[in-house]
Amino acid sequence: MDEKRAPVLPPFPYKHIMWDWNGTLLDDSHMAVMVINETLAKRNMPTISHDHYQKIFGFPVIDYYRRLGFDFVDESFEIVGTEFIDGYEEHKYEVDLHPGVRETLGALSAQGVGHSILSAYKQNTLDELVAHFDLTHQFLKIVGLDNHYAHSKVENAMQWMSELGMDNSDVLFVGDTEHDFEVAEAIGVDCILIPGGHQTRGALEKTGTRVIRDISDILELTAKDAKSTESS
Ligand SMILES: [Mg+2]
Repeated sequence: MDEKRAPVLPPFPYKHIMWDWNGTLLDDSHMAVMVINETLAKRNMPTISHDHYQKIFGFPVIDYYRRLGFDFVDESFEIVGTEFIDGYEEHKYEVDLHPGVRETLGALSAQGVGHSILSAYKQNTLDELVAHFDLTHQFLKIVGLDNHYAHSKVENAMQWMSELGMDNSDVLFVGDTEHDFEVAEAIGVDCILIPGGHQTRGALEKTGTRVIRDISDILELTAKDAKSTESS
């Protein structure tokens, strides 16, 4: 018999994964560039490429807006920020999940790994969008922020971590930005970063944590060994 068998996977080294949403599960960075370019063009400011966006995006977002060229003298950060959020809202159903997201979440769930989302995105919009992709059932909890001007996810992460009541070593954080690494550090859990979202691979590698190629690489983790940046 040369019947093909499914490969036997070693047990997954973590019991729970906290996922970032924007840029990690949701492939929204090109849309974010399109929307910010509308905001820039309206003011006769130079627009940006996706590559440049990935180099200058970061938290707190007000610093990213300054790198775009806003000085917030004639116009407040709130006005510009709200314009971006309104544009994002308009286009939010035009984006998709990154390839492999459904399969990876499903395969991990089948192994008994739990999932949650920890996002700087507004709670009700986050809930709506996760439901739109029919993924709500995959997550034990979906944690967003209750205001638009997200400064940090750290507080929510600490709160959710204590609610979860798991050993830090059983939890993995997966994100697409340096800020996600900072959040993971703050709650004392391992972190894996995926490029292809809102920051460059180079920026992610500077954190010193493991940077993988894409989400499906997570299925191949066999040990709690997140402290390396070896490129695969
Ligand atoms: Mg993100």
